[in-house]
Amino acid sequence: MTEQVRFQLPQEELPTHWYNIAADLPPMAPAINAKTGIPITPEDMMRTTAPALVEQEFSKEREIAIPEEVRQIYAQWRPTPMFRARRLERELNTPARIYYKYEGDAPTGSFKPNSSVPQVFYNKQAGRSMVVADTGAGQWGAAIAFAASLFDMKAKVFQVRVSAEQKPHRKTMMETFGSECIPSPSTETAPGRATLAEFPDHPGSLAVAKSEALQIVFDDPDAGYTRGSAANHVCLHQTVIGQEAKRQLELLGDYPDIVIGCAGGGSNLAGLAFPFLGEKLAGGRDVQLLAVEPSACPTLTRGRIAYDHSDSGGMTPLQRMHTLGNGFVPPPVHAGGLRAHSIAPLISWVVELGYMQAVAESQKRAFEAGVLFLRAEGVLAAPEATHAIRAAVDEAVRCRETGEEKTILFGLTGHGNFDLGAYQRFAAGTLPDDSVSEESLAVGLASIPETPGVQS
Ligand SMILES: *Cc1c(COP(=O)(O)O)cnc(C)c1O
Repeated sequence: MTEQVRFQLPQEELPTHWYNIAADLPPMAPAINAKTGIPITPEDMMRTTAPALVEQEFSKEREIAIPEEVRQIYAQWRPTPMFRARRLERELNTPARIYYKYEGDAPTGSFKPNSSVPQVFYNKQAGRSMVVADTGAGQWGAAIAFAASLFDMKAKVFQVRVSAEQKPHRKTMMETFGSECIPSPSTETAPGRATLAEFPDHPGSLAVAKSEALQIVFDDPDAGYTRGSAANHVCLHQTVIGQEAKRQLELLGDYPDIVIGCAGGGSNLAGLAFPFLGEKLAGGRDVQLLAVEPSACPTLTRGRIAYDHSDSGGMTPLQRMHTLGNGFVPPPVHAGGLRAHSIAPLISWVVELGYMQAVAESQKRAFEAGVLFLRAEGVLAAPEATHAIRAAVDEAVRCRETGEEKTILFGLTGHGNFDLGAYQRFAAGTLPDDSVSEESLAVGLASIPETPGVQS
């Protein structure tokens, strides 16, 4: 009999709700207004963010209904398929079962529209005419451009300069959707100009791009800020991934021993892992959760848990999270979507509580796994996703040594069709050194603000 390798859910199984893990965790430290030292309120956030998103950010409701308009758009690509990587298993000669949840068939090629669609929907609902975004590799920018075109909204995207140069196609994609894409740091905003005055060759960072995007929103009441990752509501939207994965494995009579995701801002990992963690917290099966970050930007493995800003200009509230410091500038690795100095407070919190572990991988080891995966499975993974593949392969090899028949699930967050330049450099042996110097780590950590009256 032909082995089953692709598991597709019927359309009726598209989730009706997002799962909010805040309902099941001890309360997190509040975000703090940096000027007053007082916890921020929903009203403080309303200026930049659509009210429905603010409500979700603070919500403790376990289930939040997905608007029908959003579900209808999700239905174009969701439920996404789950694959069993049988040829990879044989290649590795492992007794482990390896599954991956594939998000690369979404419009624009990654999981990001799971959140860009509701964010633009709620901004439209709130009467705003433009959405503003910051983006690393361009995946969030492309996802916002897609959603903006669906809802007839204008979109302005600040893209980290080094990524815009590595991947010019994403800029073209945003522009083809009808959006504006500006390499950051730019001369268009005060924080961009300030950065360029100090560092004319600044390669850009998510932190700087975020300051630029926020400046636009502060100056224009018709503009709404959107977040590609990290925020509670983004983690919330992404839980469609894990809910579907759970149902797919349930129908297969299987359950993961370990769930693996790459970690930049943390949203795809939250989306895949939190529904499983929620089940464990409700007395269900134990499950190991693993975050894989680039060793060039080792937020969880070498950062500090402290109150910090998620932008470089200090415009965002202070949040308690793992951080390398808002002034940390990661080396320009190809996994641009993972170059974030801080991580989702929710991910940070579950790591601190001991529900999740983290490892850091070099770009070279990640690409090695990406090539192995391509040759076994025929799927070209985004450089970010190769970090998750690396950890899944390592786990499967450990199972070969111990004989354990573990079930491994990892998130394949997007395709790498625009990243062939990076694969080419890997093949040619010309990937730049991605080791991070002690000095730049020290500079970053020193940029974590002192927070009077706040225990970090
Ligand atoms: C944005 C992105 C990531 C990382 O973002 P998280 O918020 O950490 O999930 C990973 N993979 C791809 C393909 C991306 O576009």
